[in-house]
Amino acid sequence: MSATVIDGTRLSDELRAEVEREAAALGAAGIRPGLATVLVGEDYAAQAYERRVRRLADELGCRYVGEQLGADVEEADALALVGKLNADPRISGILILRPLPPQVSEEHLYRQLDPLKDVEAVHPENAGLLALGEPRYTPSTPASVFWLLDRYVEESGRDPATFYNGLDLVLVGRSNNVGKPALWLGLARGATVVSCHRFTAQAGRLEEHTSRADVLVVAAGVPRVVTGAMVKEGVLAIDVGINPVTDEETGKVRLVGDLDFESVAEKAEAITPVPGGVGPITDVWLLKNAIEAARLRSRLAP
Ligand code: NAD
Repeated sequence: MSATVIDGTRLSDELRAEVEREAAALGAAGIRPGLATVLVGEDYAAQAYERRVRRLADELGCRYVGEQLGADVEEADALALVGKLNADPRISGILILRPLPPQVSEEHLYRQLDPLKDVEAVHPENAGLLALGEPRYTPSTPASVFWLLDRYVEESGRDPATFYNGLDLVLVGRSNNVGKPALWLGLARGATVVSCHRFTAQAGRLEEHTSRADVLVVAAGVPRVVTGAMVKEGVLAIDVGINPVTDEETGKVRLVGDLDFESVAEKAEAITPVPGGVGPITDVWLLKNAIEAARLRSRLAP
């Protein structure tokens, strides 16, 4: 393996130290951020994420409210819960966890959010601001991807302010939560951005694009969808995917990414592992946004 493996856990500790300072500064001004999560049903990954966020909020001295609704909840009740959290002055940020059951529309719930409390920028107002290059909040997963990339670029002696200018940034996955916001962030950095998705793969044209990438960000939720044969020498390869797979020999479940780590690492300049890459930074970024939301709220308060 020739690639540098980017240590997301170390970088998340650095970000956490910054966020602790921000929380302490707000605390000194008498402001306590409050984060609420809404979990509908019992998805394993969503529950695990909720537990991590709860622990981190506690450690940072933030108020935390973990709302849980049954998988058979009516949409009107889920909307009413979001309305209640919007009205609660102790809550500065709200995260609606995915997945949602089919009878509860993600779009309806997102539109119900108070845009000032929408720390994942899923409300159309915040998604629009991000597209215009004027984000109120930068959603935690794509923000973590670029924060990690920027740190790597800086630590390897280059300037993140100009590094991306004219580079080919290829994204695999175009979800509203990850792929699309990453597209706007890449454009804002001056990259030439290509967005690939399931139809690119169905057309048999994924490799045509991934093999051009100077920077490759994979967020498809498909284990090892990009292999070493599909990338060029020297790529910076960022893996957002988190896929549970059962080991055929041991029968144990483990997490793998969307990159075929070993073969991509043979050719990449740098690569993120799964677990231990983008994931640990995401949790801290969410709390960073909740703290920013509390600061915004205090500025706007009468
Ligand atoms: P999603 O299911 O909403 O979107 C997946 C996207 O990938 C879609 O745009 C789809 O068109 C595309 N796609 C599907 N199959 C493809 C293929 N064969 N080739 C190319 N594109 C394909 O998923 P998401 O919410 O964007 O999450 C993507 C992955 O990232 C998942 O594994 C998820 O668990 C992970 N994730 C990780 C974090 C983190 O903190 N690290 C956060 C969010 C999501």
